[in-house]
Amino acid sequence: MTATIEGNDRKALLDRFLRYVKVDTQSDENSESSPTTEKQKDLSRILAAELKELGCADAEMTEWGYVFATVPSNLPADHPAAGKVPTIGLIAHVDTYFGTSGKDVDPQIIESYDGSDIRLNDEQVLKTADNPNLEKCVGHKLIHTDGTTLLGADDKAGVAEIMTAVAWMKDHPEFLHGPVRIAFTTDEEVGRGTEHFDVEAFGADYAYTLDGSDLGEIEDETFCADTANVTIIGHDVHPGYAKNKLVNALRVAAAIIEGIGDELLPETTEGREPYLHPYIASGDVTKVELKVLVRAFSVEKLTEREEFLKSVVATVEKRFPKAKISIALDESYRNMAYKIREDPKVLDYALEAVERIGVEPKRQAIRGGTDGARLSYMGLLTPNVFAGGQNFHSVREWVSLEWMTKAVEVTLEILSVWVEKSA
Ligand SMILES: [Zn+2]
Repeated sequence: MTATIEGNDRKALLDRFLRYVKVDTQSDENSESSPTTEKQKDLSRILAAELKELGCADAEMTEWGYVFATVPSNLPADHPAAGKVPTIGLIAHVDTYFGTSGKDVDPQIIESYDGSDIRLNDEQVLKTADNPNLEKCVGHKLIHTDGTTLLGADDKAGVAEIMTAVAWMKDHPEFLHGPVRIAFTTDEEVGRGTEHFDVEAFGADYAYTLDGSDLGEIEDETFCADTANVTIIGHDVHPGYAKNKLVNALRVAAAIIEGIGDELLPETTEGREPYLHPYIASGDVTKVELKVLVRAFSVEKLTEREEFLKSVVATVEKRFPKAKISIALDESYRNMAYKIREDPKVLDYALEAVERIGVEPKRQAIRGGTDGARLSYMGLLTPNVFAGGQNFHSVREWVSLEWMTKAVEVTLEILSVWVEKSA
């Protein structure tokens, strides 16, 4: 059966979302503790208690603020798929972006959006010209901010959607599903969302993060990412007597940055184009450490960009023969598509589920990394499913309740597809 989220279920989804966004769970990129902010646990505690109320007897919050719970399979013993359906993980993160306040979030509701610009406050306007998706949400119930904080749809939309799916399963025992594991993680926004994630203990065979954006999108690709650490050693001499002696590491660094050119930068690329991004230069005349992010969707393109960077360095070395320049490459993460290709049904079933609820599925590549990419390399294949939120990390964040209901329906449909395919 296909789930439909309407009436009281839809209202419960909205109520959950509004309650969760009011809990401040802002992360802190400068904190070394885990979670980076204790307040993330305020929401985790609520979620663990609610999961217990929804019948997940094992629901618990760990010392890292992660929440884990199980929805056991309800397949009758004589069902052709009984005992054969893989355990599916559903994952979202409780923390919000460190750079924008998540305190005193005051969500504003538009009962039926009329298609015009939305004034958030005296300064902030959500313009249709900057938000092409607004046009697709005419007639929807929209939730936006008061323009002073983020909304937290990233990723409390995903959290509320998973909670609603669990509640719906409890209310509909006739809906047959295999074993489901729930995980709510902390510190996704600071890139530490899987730091304490024990894939084996979690026990899922496949998983989905509900942390995407637009209706119908399934993200199965991330960047391949390296950092190039360029070290430049100059030679300092009293500038009054420096002729033919001084080698200025700062000027060498500037020449390398300039040598990268205008075409290969994050600010001049999009879609599937790779980039080189010089983002930290620290030092002085004697020594500069330059960090360059290298990003591409394939290892081949990544290597190509790295070779290009090396050729820039080689050219600069000729101009500054007395400077010592070394370049070291650090691997950050790899495109999760390489892993998903090894067992693509995790993706195929999600695409099929989107289609079955009457939405056009869109495969997307993320110009970044995700917790799902890390989990995929830790042995748990985890594509990312849309959760509906827009303008992540911004005071102009907003979400459509209609898109959120579709995310719940897709989540439940994914579980159905797994049952059917396992019979
Ligand atoms: Zn997120």
